[in-house]
Amino acid sequence: MAMRVVRTIADLRALIRTIREQGHRIGFVPTMGFLHEGHGALIRQSAARCDATVVSIFVNPTQFGPGEDLANYPRDLERDQGLCLETGATVLFMPEVSEIYPTGFQTHVEPGRLAEPLCGRFRPGHFRGVATVVAKLLHMVQPDLAFFGQKDYQQAVVIRRMVRDLNLPVDVVVVPTVRDGDGLALSSRNAYLAPGDRERALALSQGLLAAKAAFDAGERRTQPLLDLARGPLGRVDQMQYLELVDAQTLEPLDGVVDRSAALCVAAFVGTTRLIDNVLLTPSVEAGPGPQNHPRP
Ligand code: AMP
Repeated sequence: MAMRVVRTIADLRALIRTIREQGHRIGFVPTMGFLHEGHGALIRQSAARCDATVVSIFVNPTQFGPGEDLANYPRDLERDQGLCLETGATVLFMPEVSEIYPTGFQTHVEPGRLAEPLCGRFRPGHFRGVATVVAKLLHMVQPDLAFFGQKDYQQAVVIRRMVRDLNLPVDVVVVPTVRDGDGLALSSRNAYLAPGDRERALALSQGLLAAKAAFDAGERRTQPLLDLARGPLGRVDQMQYLELVDAQTLEPLDGVVDRSAALCVAAFVGTTRLIDNVLLTPSVEAGPGPQNHPRP
């Protein structure tokens, strides 16, 4: 199927109506563009599971705080179109800001407690902007499935909660983080990193992956896991947080990892803010190893 590029909500809705009339199942991948293989994984998964895949490219101003990188967020629409086509997108929606937020716009989606910890502490209003634009896009596209990356773990959890709380008729699929060969999580913001910075940026994934390896080998105590993850982080310029939280509630785990957990980090390398995480899931089969006993 050829890929259609649309820029207005009216054109998008007309196209969606035609796709629906054909009885097709629609997948949706919202993005801010400057696409990479992380986005590619979401699009490919949608293309594999749905008859039509809508990708949106919209750098959403309401999720950027004052002093953040909205004005110089990287863009390359021509390359993005190529990646969309190559990975199986059928519709590319690229609206102007005025199309999404016309004069007089004043209604927002306010997420609750899940938006408070982690990135929420350092980016006030960020998840309100994310939830608002994703709700709007979901209403425009009306997909059966919507795909989000584990890379932005808190975002995925906030969106999943919003979909439930507002009874939006869509299934949220979270796709594992795609990493470069050296472990760095792919991100549009990696483009900001100078060569020396890129090396130091590996501190995030190195720490997380070391902690995950220890967890997989049986370590269940939170402190040693956090210490392992913190080890390489001396190389970053400014740490924002490193936290081991309940994968569902995002509340900090203290003592032992006795349920699914997310180990999440945010740090600045140079002027670039990077985030990453790994999921730690105690499997039922894992027998208690020597390090498995809770501390007294
Ligand atoms: P963004 O364009 O950064 O807003 O990201 C759009 C979607 O792609 C979000 O659902 C992200 O979580 C997802 N994403 C970004 N980077 C990756 C990655 N390295 N692996 C998997 N998904 C990603």
